[in-house]
Amino acid sequence: MELQEAKARIDALQRKEIAYNHAMGLLSYDGATGAPAGTAANRGETLAVLSEASYGIATGPEMIETVETLLRHADELDEVTRRIAEVKNKDLTELRKIPVEDYVAYTKLINEADAVWHKAKENNDYASFAPYIARIVEFHKKIAALVSPEKDPYDYWLDRFEEGLTREKCEVFFAALRREIVPLVKKVTASPQVDDSLNHIPFPIPEQEKLSDELMALMGIDRDHCTISTTEHPFTTEFSKYDVRITTHYHETSFLSSLFSVVHEGGHALYELNVADELAYTCLGRGVSMGVHESQSRFFENIIGRSEAFAALLFPILERLFPEQMKGRTPHGLYLAANKSEPSLIRTEADELTYSLHIMVRFEIEKRLFAGEVTAADLPALWNALYKEYLGVDVPDARRGVLQDSHWSGGMFGYFPSYALGSAYGAEILARMEREFDVFAAVEHNEIAKINDWLREHIWKFGSLYKPGELMEKVFGAPFDPAYYTNYLKKKYASIYGFEA
Ligand SMILES: [Zn+2]
Repeated sequence: MELQEAKARIDALQRKEIAYNHAMGLLSYDGATGAPAGTAANRGETLAVLSEASYGIATGPEMIETVETLLRHADELDEVTRRIAEVKNKDLTELRKIPVEDYVAYTKLINEADAVWHKAKENNDYASFAPYIARIVEFHKKIAALVSPEKDPYDYWLDRFEEGLTREKCEVFFAALRREIVPLVKKVTASPQVDDSLNHIPFPIPEQEKLSDELMALMGIDRDHCTISTTEHPFTTEFSKYDVRITTHYHETSFLSSLFSVVHEGGHALYELNVADELAYTCLGRGVSMGVHESQSRFFENIIGRSEAFAALLFPILERLFPEQMKGRTPHGLYLAANKSEPSLIRTEADELTYSLHIMVRFEIEKRLFAGEVTAADLPALWNALYKEYLGVDVPDARRGVLQDSHWSGGMFGYFPSYALGSAYGAEILARMEREFDVFAAVEHNEIAKINDWLREHIWKFGSLYKPGELMEKVFGAPFDPAYYTNYLKKKYASIYGFEA
Protein backbone atom coordinates (compact mmCIF):
# COMPACT_ATOMS: atom_id res chain seq x y z
CA MET A 1 0.00 0.00 0.00
CA GLU A 2 1.25 3.47 -0.89
CA LEU A 3 1.27 6.35 1.58
CA GLN A 4 -1.38 8.35 -0.32
CA GLU A 5 -3.70 5.39 -0.35
CA ALA A 6 -3.10 4.71 3.37
CA LYS A 7 -4.02 8.30 4.20
CA ALA A 8 -7.29 8.03 2.30
CA ARG A 9 -8.04 4.64 3.83
CA ILE A 10 -7.41 5.64 7.44
CA ASP A 11 -9.81 8.50 6.89
CA ALA A 12 -12.51 6.20 5.47
CA LEU A 13 -11.98 3.53 8.16
CA GLN A 14 -12.34 6.07 10.96
CA ARG A 15 -15.50 7.50 9.43
CA LYS A 16 -16.95 3.99 9.44
CA GLU A 17 -15.93 3.36 13.05
CA ILE A 18 -17.41 6.68 14.09
CA ALA A 19 -20.66 5.90 12.29
CA TYR A 20 -20.94 2.65 14.27
CA ASN A 21 -20.11 4.46 17.50
CA HIS A 22 -22.74 7.05 16.69
CA ALA A 23 -25.41 4.37 16.24
CA MET A 24 -24.35 2.40 19.34
CA GLY A 25 -24.04 5.53 21.46
CA LEU A 26 -27.48 6.72 20.45
CA LEU A 27 -29.00 3.33 21.30
CA SER A 28 -27.36 3.34 24.73
CA TYR A 29 -28.41 6.94 25.33
CA ASP A 30 -31.96 6.06 24.35
CA GLY A 31 -31.81 3.08 26.72
CA ALA A 32 -30.83 5.39 29.58
CA THR A 33 -33.41 8.09 28.78
CA GLY A 34 -36.53 7.58 26.64
CA ALA A 35 -36.74 3.87 25.75
CA PRO A 36 -39.57 1.81 27.32
CA ALA A 37 -38.53 -0.63 30.07
CA GLY A 38 -39.11 -3.81 28.07
CA THR A 39 -36.71 -2.94 25.24
CA ALA A 40 -33.36 -3.82 26.81
CA ALA A 41 -33.05 -7.34 25.36
CA ASN A 42 -33.88 -6.15 21.86
CA ARG A 43 -31.40 -3.31 22.14
CA GLY A 44 -28.80 -5.79 23.40
CA GLU A 45 -29.21 -7.87 20.21
CA THR A 46 -28.72 -4.83 18.00
CA LEU A 47 -25.73 -3.61 20.00
CA ALA A 48 -24.10 -7.04 19.76
CA VAL A 49 -24.37 -7.02 15.96
CA LEU A 50 -23.09 -3.46 15.67
CA SER A 51 -20.20 -3.95 18.09
CA GLU A 52 -19.06 -7.08 16.29
CA ALA A 53 -18.99 -5.18 13.02
CA SER A 54 -17.17 -2.28 14.64
CA TYR A 55 -14.62 -4.63 16.23
CA GLY A 56 -14.09 -6.13 12.76
CA ILE A 57 -13.18 -2.72 11.34
CA ALA A 58 -10.91 -1.84 14.28
CA THR A 59 -8.89 -5.05 14.09
CA GLY A 60 -9.35 -6.13 10.48
CA PRO A 61 -6.59 -6.69 7.90
CA GLU A 62 -7.35 -3.40 6.17
CA MET A 63 -6.81 -1.44 9.39
CA ILE A 64 -3.61 -3.35 10.16
CA GLU A 65 -2.13 -2.80 6.71
CA THR A 66 -3.13 0.87 6.70
CA VAL A 67 -1.65 1.62 10.13
CA GLU A 68 1.55 -0.27 9.30
CA THR A 69 1.94 1.70 6.08
CA LEU A 70 1.45 5.00 7.90
CA LEU A 71 3.97 4.07 10.59
CA ARG A 72 6.56 3.11 7.96
CA HIS A 73 6.25 6.68 6.65
CA ALA A 74 5.97 8.31 10.09
CA ASP A 75 8.61 10.94 9.23
CA GLU A 76 6.63 12.18 6.26
CA LEU A 77 3.32 12.52 8.11
CA ASP A 78 1.75 15.74 9.36
CA GLU A 79 1.22 16.01 13.13
CA VAL A 80 -2.44 14.95 13.06
CA THR A 81 -1.99 11.88 10.87
CA ARG A 82 1.07 10.78 12.83
CA ARG A 83 -0.83 10.92 16.11
CA ILE A 84 -3.78 9.04 14.54
CA ALA A 85 -1.40 6.29 13.42
CA GLU A 86 0.13 6.15 16.91
CA VAL A 87 -3.25 5.91 18.67
CA LYS A 88 -4.56 3.31 16.24
CA ASN A 89 -1.39 1.28 16.56
CA LYS A 90 -1.66 1.30 20.35
CA ASP A 91 -5.28 0.07 20.19
CA LEU A 92 -4.44 -2.59 17.63
CA THR A 93 -1.45 -3.91 19.54
CA GLU A 94 -3.57 -4.27 22.67
CA LEU A 95 -6.49 -5.90 20.92
CA ARG A 96 -4.27 -8.39 19.10
CA LYS A 97 -2.51 -9.48 22.27
CA ILE A 98 -5.73 -10.37 24.07
CA PRO A 99 -7.11 -13.72 22.82
CA VAL A 100 -10.72 -13.48 21.71
CA GLU A 101 -11.78 -16.11 24.32
CA ASP A 102 -10.39 -13.91 27.08
CA TYR A 103 -12.14 -10.89 25.66
CA VAL A 104 -15.47 -12.72 25.63
CA ALA A 105 -14.94 -14.26 29.10
CA TYR A 106 -14.09 -10.83 30.49
CA THR A 107 -17.21 -9.22 29.00
CA LYS A 108 -19.31 -12.00 30.52
CA LEU A 109 -17.64 -11.63 33.91
CA ILE A 110 -18.31 -7.88 33.95
CA ASN A 111 -21.94 -8.36 32.96
CA GLU A 112 -22.42 -10.83 35.79
CA ALA A 113 -20.48 -8.72 38.27
CA ASP A 114 -22.68 -5.72 37.56
CA ALA A 115 -25.86 -7.65 38.37
CA VAL A 116 -24.33 -9.16 41.52
CA TRP A 117 -23.09 -5.76 42.66
CA HIS A 118 -26.57 -4.19 42.30
CA LYS A 119 -28.07 -6.92 44.47
CA ALA A 120 -25.20 -6.91 46.95
CA LYS A 121 -25.56 -3.14 47.41
CA GLU A 122 -29.31 -3.42 47.89
CA ASN A 123 -28.91 -6.23 50.46
CA ASN A 124 -25.85 -4.72 52.10
CA ASP A 125 -24.09 -8.01 51.43
CA TYR A 126 -20.42 -7.55 50.53
CA ALA A 127 -19.60 -11.25 50.87
CA SER A 128 -21.63 -12.13 47.76
CA PHE A 129 -19.67 -9.57 45.71
CA ALA A 130 -16.17 -10.27 47.06
CA PRO A 131 -15.45 -13.24 44.73
CA TYR A 132 -16.13 -10.96 41.75
CA ILE A 133 -13.64 -8.36 42.95
CA ALA A 134 -11.07 -11.15 43.26
CA ARG A 135 -11.83 -12.49 39.77
CA ILE A 136 -11.87 -9.08 38.10
CA VAL A 137 -8.53 -8.09 39.65
CA GLU A 138 -7.02 -11.42 38.53
CA PHE A 139 -8.34 -10.82 35.03
CA HIS A 140 -6.95 -7.31 34.99
CA LYS A 141 -3.53 -8.56 36.03
CA LYS A 142 -3.68 -11.19 33.30
CA ILE A 143 -4.62 -8.67 30.61
CA ALA A 144 -1.87 -6.30 31.78
CA ALA A 145 0.66 -9.15 31.63
CA LEU A 146 -0.45 -10.08 28.11
CA VAL A 147 -0.35 -6.56 26.71
CA SER A 148 2.46 -4.91 28.67
CA PRO A 149 4.46 -7.58 30.50
CA GLU A 150 7.20 -5.04 31.25
CA LYS A 151 4.81 -2.76 33.15
CA ASP A 152 3.47 -2.89 36.68
CA PRO A 153 -0.13 -4.16 36.18
CA TYR A 154 -1.71 -1.25 38.05
CA ASP A 155 0.34 1.21 35.99
CA TYR A 156 -1.03 -0.43 32.87
CA TRP A 157 -4.61 0.27 33.98
CA LEU A 158 -3.88 3.80 35.16
CA ASP A 159 -2.40 4.52 31.75
CA ARG A 160 -5.53 3.18 30.04
CA PHE A 161 -7.57 6.00 31.57
CA GLU A 162 -4.90 8.69 31.72
CA GLU A 163 -2.09 8.06 29.28
CA GLY A 164 1.25 8.49 31.04
CA LEU A 165 -0.12 8.25 34.60
CA THR A 166 1.67 5.83 36.95
CA ARG A 167 1.28 4.64 40.53
CA GLU A 168 4.39 6.56 41.47
CA LYS A 169 3.05 9.83 40.04
CA CYS A 170 -0.24 9.21 41.87
CA GLU A 171 1.59 8.61 45.11
CA VAL A 172 3.50 11.90 44.91
CA PHE A 173 0.31 13.73 43.95
CA PHE A 174 -1.88 12.24 46.67
CA ALA A 175 0.80 12.70 49.35
CA ALA A 176 0.90 16.42 48.49
CA LEU A 177 -2.89 16.61 48.70
CA ARG A 178 -3.16 14.72 51.97
CA ARG A 179 -0.55 16.86 53.66
CA GLU A 180 -2.60 20.02 53.02
CA ILE A 181 -6.20 18.84 52.86
CA VAL A 182 -6.42 16.68 56.01
CA PRO A 183 -5.49 19.56 58.39
CA LEU A 184 -7.72 21.92 56.41
CA VAL A 185 -10.72 19.60 56.85
CA LYS A 186 -10.00 19.54 60.60
CA LYS A 187 -10.09 23.36 60.72
CA VAL A 188 -13.37 23.46 58.79
CA THR A 189 -14.90 20.82 61.06
CA ALA A 190 -13.91 22.84 64.14
CA SER A 191 -15.48 26.05 62.75
CA PRO A 192 -19.17 27.07 62.97
CA GLN A 193 -21.09 25.50 60.06
CA VAL A 194 -22.47 27.71 57.27
CA ASP A 195 -26.22 28.04 56.67
CA ASP A 196 -27.44 25.91 53.76
CA SER A 197 -31.16 25.94 54.62
CA LEU A 198 -31.81 27.35 51.12
CA ASN A 199 -30.90 23.95 49.74
CA HIS A 200 -33.48 22.14 51.87
CA ILE A 201 -36.69 23.97 50.95
CA PRO A 202 -38.88 22.92 47.99
CA PHE A 203 -37.99 24.31 44.56
CA PRO A 204 -40.67 23.26 42.01
CA ILE A 205 -39.20 20.99 39.33
CA PRO A 206 -40.75 22.75 36.27
CA GLU A 207 -38.90 25.93 37.31
CA GLN A 208 -35.74 23.92 37.96
CA GLU A 209 -36.01 22.74 34.34
CA LYS A 210 -36.18 26.37 33.20
CA LEU A 211 -33.12 27.07 35.35
CA SER A 212 -31.21 24.33 33.50
CA ASP A 213 -31.90 26.11 30.20
CA GLU A 214 -30.75 29.42 31.65
CA LEU A 215 -27.57 27.82 33.00
CA MET A 216 -26.73 26.32 29.63
CA ALA A 217 -27.28 29.72 28.04
CA LEU A 218 -25.02 31.45 30.61
CA MET A 219 -22.31 28.89 29.86
CA GLY A 220 -22.55 29.51 26.11
CA ILE A 221 -23.56 25.95 25.23
CA ASP A 222 -24.80 25.70 21.65
CA ARG A 223 -28.29 24.23 22.01
CA ASP A 224 -28.45 23.36 18.31
CA HIS A 225 -25.83 20.71 19.10
CA CYS A 226 -26.51 19.88 22.75
CA THR A 227 -29.66 18.78 24.50
CA ILE A 228 -30.54 17.96 28.12
CA SER A 229 -32.72 15.23 29.60
CA THR A 230 -33.12 13.51 32.98
CA THR A 231 -31.61 10.25 34.28
CA GLU A 232 -31.00 8.66 37.68
CA HIS A 233 -27.32 9.63 37.53
CA PRO A 234 -26.32 12.66 35.46
CA PHE A 235 -23.88 12.05 32.60
CA THR A 236 -22.60 13.44 29.29
CA THR A 237 -22.36 11.48 26.10
CA GLU A 238 -21.14 12.63 22.72
CA PHE A 239 -21.59 11.03 19.35
CA SER A 240 -19.31 13.61 17.73
CA LYS A 241 -18.49 17.25 18.28
CA TYR A 242 -21.74 17.99 16.45
CA ASP A 243 -24.04 16.03 18.77
CA VAL A 244 -23.57 16.08 22.54
CA ARG A 245 -26.17 15.12 25.15
CA ILE A 246 -26.16 15.92 28.85
CA THR A 247 -28.49 14.72 31.60
CA THR A 248 -29.39 15.82 35.12
CA HIS A 249 -31.51 14.62 38.04
CA TYR A 250 -33.98 16.94 39.81
CA HIS A 251 -34.53 16.77 43.57
CA GLU A 252 -37.30 19.05 44.79
CA THR A 253 -35.70 19.77 48.17
CA SER A 254 -32.12 20.07 46.94
CA PHE A 255 -32.13 22.41 43.98
CA LEU A 256 -28.34 22.87 44.11
CA SER A 257 -27.91 19.21 43.22
CA SER A 258 -29.29 19.57 39.70
CA LEU A 259 -27.88 23.09 39.33
CA PHE A 260 -24.31 21.87 39.81
CA SER A 261 -24.91 18.69 37.80
CA VAL A 262 -25.92 20.84 34.84
CA VAL A 263 -22.85 23.06 35.24
CA HIS A 264 -20.60 20.00 35.61
CA GLU A 265 -21.99 18.12 32.62
CA GLY A 266 -22.09 21.43 30.74
CA GLY A 267 -18.30 21.65 31.23
CA HIS A 268 -17.89 18.21 29.66
CA ALA A 269 -20.18 19.25 26.82
CA LEU A 270 -18.31 22.49 26.07
CA TYR A 271 -15.06 20.54 25.72
CA GLU A 272 -16.56 18.11 23.20
CA LEU A 273 -18.47 20.79 21.26
CA ASN A 274 -15.34 22.87 20.79
CA VAL A 275 -12.87 20.37 19.38
CA ALA A 276 -11.46 21.72 16.08
CA ASP A 277 -13.51 20.83 12.99
CA GLU A 278 -10.41 19.30 11.33
CA LEU A 279 -10.35 16.58 13.99
CA ALA A 280 -14.02 15.60 13.64
CA TYR A 281 -14.56 12.07 12.26
CA THR A 282 -11.12 10.97 13.48
CA CYS A 283 -10.08 9.18 16.67
CA LEU A 284 -8.65 12.51 17.86
CA GLY A 285 -11.97 14.34 17.63
CA ARG A 286 -12.87 14.09 21.31
CA GLY A 287 -11.63 15.02 24.76
CA VAL A 288 -8.26 13.42 25.42
CA SER A 289 -8.69 11.70 28.77
CA MET A 290 -10.82 11.35 31.86
CA GLY A 291 -8.45 13.56 33.85
CA VAL A 292 -8.53 16.42 31.36
CA HIS A 293 -12.29 15.98 30.92
CA GLU A 294 -12.85 16.22 34.66
CA SER A 295 -10.56 19.25 34.76
CA GLN A 296 -13.11 20.99 32.52
CA SER A 297 -16.29 19.79 34.22
CA ARG A 298 -14.99 20.35 37.73
CA PHE A 299 -13.52 23.71 36.72
CA PHE A 300 -16.99 24.88 35.72
CA GLU A 301 -18.80 23.17 38.58
CA ASN A 302 -16.52 24.17 41.46
CA ILE A 303 -14.11 26.92 40.51
CA ILE A 304 -16.59 28.93 38.45
CA GLY A 305 -19.98 27.57 39.62
CA ARG A 306 -19.23 27.67 43.34
CA SER A 307 -17.60 31.12 43.22
CA GLU A 308 -18.96 34.28 44.80
CA ALA A 309 -19.01 35.86 41.32
CA PHE A 310 -21.24 33.12 39.93
CA ALA A 311 -23.58 33.45 42.90
CA ALA A 312 -23.92 37.15 42.05
CA LEU A 313 -24.58 36.38 38.38
CA LEU A 314 -27.12 33.69 39.21
CA PHE A 315 -28.99 35.46 41.98
CA PRO A 316 -31.32 37.65 39.85
CA ILE A 317 -32.20 34.63 37.70
CA LEU A 318 -33.13 32.64 40.81
CA GLU A 319 -35.16 35.57 42.14
CA ARG A 320 -37.10 35.67 38.88
CA LEU A 321 -37.74 31.90 38.73
CA PHE A 322 -38.22 31.31 42.47
CA PRO A 323 -39.48 34.59 44.00
CA GLU A 324 -40.94 32.87 47.10
CA GLN A 325 -37.89 30.78 47.92
CA MET A 326 -35.40 33.61 47.38
CA LYS A 327 -37.24 36.15 49.54
CA GLY A 328 -34.83 37.56 52.14
CA ARG A 329 -31.87 35.66 50.68
CA THR A 330 -28.60 37.22 49.45
CA PRO A 331 -26.00 36.30 46.82
CA HIS A 332 -23.50 35.76 49.62
CA GLY A 333 -25.91 33.39 51.37
CA LEU A 334 -26.24 31.44 48.12
CA TYR A 335 -22.45 31.28 47.86
CA LEU A 336 -22.15 29.92 51.41
CA ALA A 337 -24.92 27.34 50.90
CA ALA A 338 -23.13 26.11 47.77
CA ASN A 339 -19.89 25.62 49.69
CA LYS A 340 -20.95 23.83 52.85
CA SER A 341 -18.18 21.35 53.64
CA GLU A 342 -18.39 18.37 55.92
CA PRO A 343 -16.74 14.94 55.97
CA SER A 344 -19.25 12.40 54.70
CA LEU A 345 -19.65 8.81 53.58
CA ILE A 346 -20.67 9.08 49.93
CA ARG A 347 -18.19 10.21 47.27
CA THR A 348 -20.75 11.50 44.76
CA GLU A 349 -22.28 13.79 47.39
CA ALA A 350 -18.97 15.06 48.75
CA ASP A 351 -18.16 18.78 48.70
CA GLU A 352 -15.25 20.30 46.81
CA LEU A 353 -12.85 20.20 49.78
CA THR A 354 -13.33 16.62 51.00
CA TYR A 355 -13.83 15.06 47.55
CA SER A 356 -10.20 14.11 46.93
CA LEU A 357 -10.03 12.24 50.23
CA HIS A 358 -12.72 9.86 48.96
CA ILE A 359 -10.60 9.26 45.88
CA MET A 360 -7.48 8.59 47.96
CA VAL A 361 -9.27 5.80 49.85
CA ARG A 362 -10.03 4.08 46.55
CA PHE A 363 -6.51 4.59 45.22
CA GLU A 364 -4.95 3.06 48.36
CA ILE A 365 -7.21 0.02 48.07
CA GLU A 366 -6.64 -0.50 44.34
CA LYS A 367 -2.90 -0.15 44.74
CA ARG A 368 -2.77 -2.75 47.53
CA LEU A 369 -5.10 -5.13 45.71
CA PHE A 370 -2.96 -5.09 42.59
CA ALA A 371 0.23 -5.47 44.64
CA GLY A 372 -1.29 -8.52 46.34
CA GLU A 373 -0.95 -6.88 49.78
CA VAL A 374 -4.64 -7.34 50.50
CA THR A 375 -7.36 -9.64 49.16
CA ALA A 376 -10.98 -8.97 48.24
CA ALA A 377 -12.06 -10.25 51.67
CA ASP A 378 -10.04 -7.52 53.43
CA LEU A 379 -11.75 -4.64 51.64
CA PRO A 380 -14.60 -3.68 54.01
CA ALA A 381 -12.29 -3.43 57.03
CA LEU A 382 -9.64 -1.57 55.03
CA TRP A 383 -12.25 0.78 53.56
CA ASN A 384 -13.66 1.61 56.98
CA ALA A 385 -10.21 2.15 58.50
CA LEU A 386 -9.19 4.52 55.68
CA TYR A 387 -12.44 6.52 55.96
CA LYS A 388 -11.77 6.91 59.66
CA GLU A 389 -8.17 7.95 59.03
CA TYR A 390 -8.76 10.39 56.13
CA LEU A 391 -12.25 11.73 56.83
CA GLY A 392 -12.80 10.92 60.48
CA VAL A 393 -16.13 9.21 59.81
CA ASP A 394 -17.43 5.80 60.91
CA VAL A 395 -18.84 3.73 58.06
CA PRO A 396 -22.07 2.10 59.27
CA ASP A 397 -22.47 -0.53 56.54
CA ALA A 398 -21.08 -1.79 53.23
CA ARG A 399 -23.89 -0.14 51.26
CA ARG A 400 -22.61 3.27 52.34
CA GLY A 401 -19.04 1.98 52.30
CA VAL A 402 -17.18 -0.35 50.02
CA LEU A 403 -20.23 -1.16 47.86
CA GLN A 404 -21.22 2.42 47.03
CA ASP A 405 -19.55 2.89 43.60
CA SER A 406 -20.26 0.98 40.41
CA HIS A 407 -16.69 1.34 39.07
CA TRP A 408 -15.17 -1.89 40.38
CA SER A 409 -18.06 -4.08 39.24
CA GLY A 410 -17.61 -2.46 35.83
CA GLY A 411 -13.91 -3.35 35.77
CA MET A 412 -12.81 0.28 36.02
CA PHE A 413 -9.78 -0.17 38.25
CA GLY A 414 -7.41 2.74 37.73
CA TYR A 415 -10.17 5.20 36.89
CA PHE A 416 -10.66 7.00 40.22
CA PRO A 417 -7.37 8.97 40.39
CA SER A 418 -8.33 10.93 37.28
CA TYR A 419 -11.17 12.64 39.18
CA ALA A 420 -8.76 14.11 41.72
CA LEU A 421 -6.18 14.87 39.05
CA GLY A 422 -8.85 16.74 37.07
CA SER A 423 -9.75 18.89 40.08
CA ALA A 424 -6.11 19.80 40.59
CA TYR A 425 -5.53 20.54 36.88
CA GLY A 426 -8.50 22.91 37.09
CA ALA A 427 -6.90 25.03 39.82
CA GLU A 428 -3.67 25.41 37.83
CA ILE A 429 -5.70 26.26 34.71
CA LEU A 430 -7.37 29.05 36.72
CA ALA A 431 -3.99 30.40 37.84
CA ARG A 432 -2.75 30.36 34.27
CA MET A 433 -5.90 32.09 32.99
CA GLU A 434 -5.74 34.76 35.72
CA ARG A 435 -2.38 35.90 34.39
CA GLU A 436 -4.23 37.07 31.27
CA PHE A 437 -7.52 38.46 32.54
CA ASP A 438 -9.71 38.83 35.62
CA VAL A 439 -11.59 35.54 35.49
CA PHE A 440 -14.12 36.23 38.24
CA ALA A 441 -14.87 39.73 36.95
CA ALA A 442 -15.72 38.06 33.63
CA VAL A 443 -18.07 35.66 35.44
CA GLU A 444 -19.79 38.41 37.38
CA HIS A 445 -20.29 40.50 34.21
CA ASN A 446 -21.83 37.59 32.32
CA GLU A 447 -18.78 37.23 30.08
CA ILE A 448 -18.17 33.50 30.45
CA ALA A 449 -17.48 33.63 26.70
CA LYS A 450 -14.04 35.05 27.59
CA ILE A 451 -13.30 31.94 29.64
CA ASN A 452 -14.60 29.70 26.87
CA ASP A 453 -12.42 31.47 24.28
CA TRP A 454 -9.36 30.86 26.45
CA LEU A 455 -10.17 27.20 27.05
CA ARG A 456 -10.94 26.64 23.37
CA GLU A 457 -7.59 28.09 22.31
CA HIS A 458 -5.51 26.30 24.96
CA ILE A 459 -7.32 22.98 25.45
CA TRP A 460 -10.60 22.20 23.71
CA LYS A 461 -9.61 22.63 20.07
CA PHE A 462 -6.78 20.10 20.39
CA GLY A 463 -9.10 17.15 21.09
CA SER A 464 -6.84 14.13 21.59
CA LEU A 465 -3.94 15.45 19.50
CA TYR A 466 -1.57 15.51 22.49
CA LYS A 467 -1.19 13.08 25.38
CA PRO A 468 -2.99 14.42 28.48
CA GLY A 469 0.17 15.14 30.50
CA GLU A 470 1.77 16.84 27.48
CA LEU A 471 -1.29 18.99 26.86
CA MET A 472 -1.42 20.13 30.48
CA GLU A 473 2.29 21.01 30.44
CA LYS A 474 1.74 23.09 27.32
CA VAL A 475 -1.09 24.90 29.07
CA PHE A 476 0.84 25.48 32.30
CA GLY A 477 4.15 26.25 30.62
CA ALA A 478 5.71 24.14 33.39
CA PRO A 479 5.33 20.68 34.93
CA PHE A 480 2.00 20.18 36.73
CA ASP A 481 2.11 21.42 40.34
CA PRO A 482 -0.61 20.32 42.80
CA ALA A 483 0.26 23.26 45.10
CA TYR A 484 -2.02 25.45 42.93
CA TYR A 485 -4.92 23.24 43.96
CA THR A 486 -4.14 23.03 47.67
CA ASN A 487 -3.49 26.80 47.82
CA TYR A 488 -6.78 27.46 46.06
CA LEU A 489 -8.63 25.26 48.58
CA LYS A 490 -6.88 26.84 51.56
CA LYS A 491 -7.70 30.37 50.47
CA LYS A 492 -11.30 29.56 49.62
CA TYR A 493 -12.21 27.61 52.75
CA ALA A 494 -10.33 29.92 55.12
CA SER A 495 -12.43 32.80 53.81
CA ILE A 496 -15.74 30.88 53.95
CA TYR A 497 -15.18 29.42 57.41
CA GLY A 498 -13.33 32.41 58.82
CA PHE A 499 -9.96 31.06 59.92
CA GLU A 500 -6.35 31.90 59.06
CA ALA A 501 -5.23 30.24 55.82
ZN1 LIG B 1 -17.67 14.33 35.15
